[in-house]
Amino acid sequence: MKYYSTNKQTADVTLEEAVVKGLAGDKGLFMPCEIKRFLPSFYDEIQNLSFQEIAYCVADAFFGEDVPADTLKHIVYDTLSFDVPAVKVRENIYSLELFHGPTLAFKDVGGRFMARLLGYYIRKEGKKSVNVLVATSGDTGSAVANGFLGVDGIHVYVLYPKGKVSEIQEKQFATLGQNITAIEVDGTFDDCQALVKNAFMDKELNEYMQLTSANSINVARFLPQAFYYFYAYAQMKRLGKADNLVICVPSGNFGNITAGLFGKRMGLPVKRFIAANNRNDVFFQYLKTGEYHPKASVATIANAMDVGDPSNFARVIDLYGGSHDSIAADISGEAYTDEQIRETIQRTYEETGYLLDPHGACGYRALAEDLKPGETGVFLETAHPAKFLHTVESIIGTDVKIPEKLQAFMRGVKQSVPMSKDFASFKTYLMKQ
Ligand SMILES: *Cc1c(COP(=O)(O)O)cnc(C)c1O
Repeated sequence: MKYYSTNKQTADVTLEEAVVKGLAGDKGLFMPCEIKRFLPSFYDEIQNLSFQEIAYCVADAFFGEDVPADTLKHIVYDTLSFDVPAVKVRENIYSLELFHGPTLAFKDVGGRFMARLLGYYIRKEGKKSVNVLVATSGDTGSAVANGFLGVDGIHVYVLYPKGKVSEIQEKQFATLGQNITAIEVDGTFDDCQALVKNAFMDKELNEYMQLTSANSINVARFLPQAFYYFYAYAQMKRLGKADNLVICVPSGNFGNITAGLFGKRMGLPVKRFIAANNRNDVFFQYLKTGEYHPKASVATIANAMDVGDPSNFARVIDLYGGSHDSIAADISGEAYTDEQIRETIQRTYEETGYLLDPHGACGYRALAEDLKPGETGVFLETAHPAKFLHTVESIIGTDVKIPEKLQAFMRGVKQSVPMSKDFASFKTYLMKQ
């Protein structure tokens, strides 16, 4: 299947090109030229399939023309080595827990899938090794690093700002070793991003080594998130709760929810979606006014959603042919302040015993406020509350149990390479690898 650019100023490309390049030549985002609909019989039987089986069917619809069936099956099964259970929080509201993967956040699936697909292309083409550069303010680095850990032919460099990520976050990408190198930059997150951008533009460096990015706009990170929505539906169907299903997605760059909208286009019977935001509410404002005004982001306690100009907005617009009416018919929005997020975590814990993280709290609250009689709501719980330990403990006033996976990272020994923020020293370092 070919992929076109949302800016439509460049020729269509193959899946391999879309994955290796990430962004289209005209700076647009890649979209698949066709979105296949499943037959009704697929939805009649879906409750009898496992997460892996469902995900393989979805992956086959997107990638089956380009990747041999046995390879694709292997990639999917290897990616999904953990469950994403739907847990009842209260009558008619369920939490789809996306935090049972290696770094306890939903980006694990996209990171792992992309690593394995890229690994396949490297082996197939007999390419020399590929180097992935990723700048992180915390969470993306851990999902990408752990996703690529141990994948042959790929080396990952994670650049992060010294002293500006939490210890838990740092331990998740700076202790891994093998094909993962953590680079501790004496500067800010913007300095890290500038180093990565400069590296991609440097001719000499690109002749010396094959460089690529692993940011969330890559189709191989973005499309696999559709798996979640099909599996959520299957689980609700098993419970007899699949009619009038409303799915609520805590959103920042809008990659996750856009994958859900693709699912709806493939016939998945979801009645409607809710995009839950923190104070960074440009999408919510767009829904209300029809006008899109990107802004600088503001810092909140749900910091993975601190995005002022969501990169996947272009995909949403493209998917609906630019029609605000059609978008608003499928998606509604909500936005919450830090105070409201705190209140939601505390009250939900008190009333139901369920501990939300600050991102999931936005999702839960939007359902609690917007669900209509006869509807069932599922919100995506995008991270484990222990990832935001100090915030969550200060809200509920008791200790949060740290999952064994997170404790194992905490025991690891940091092994970062110190780096100044000037490009010359970063380039010299890379040229010696
Ligand atoms: C990345 C992230 C989000 C936002 O997802 P998008 O796909 O960018 O909308 C929400 N919650 C958590 C915990 C995240 O890490």
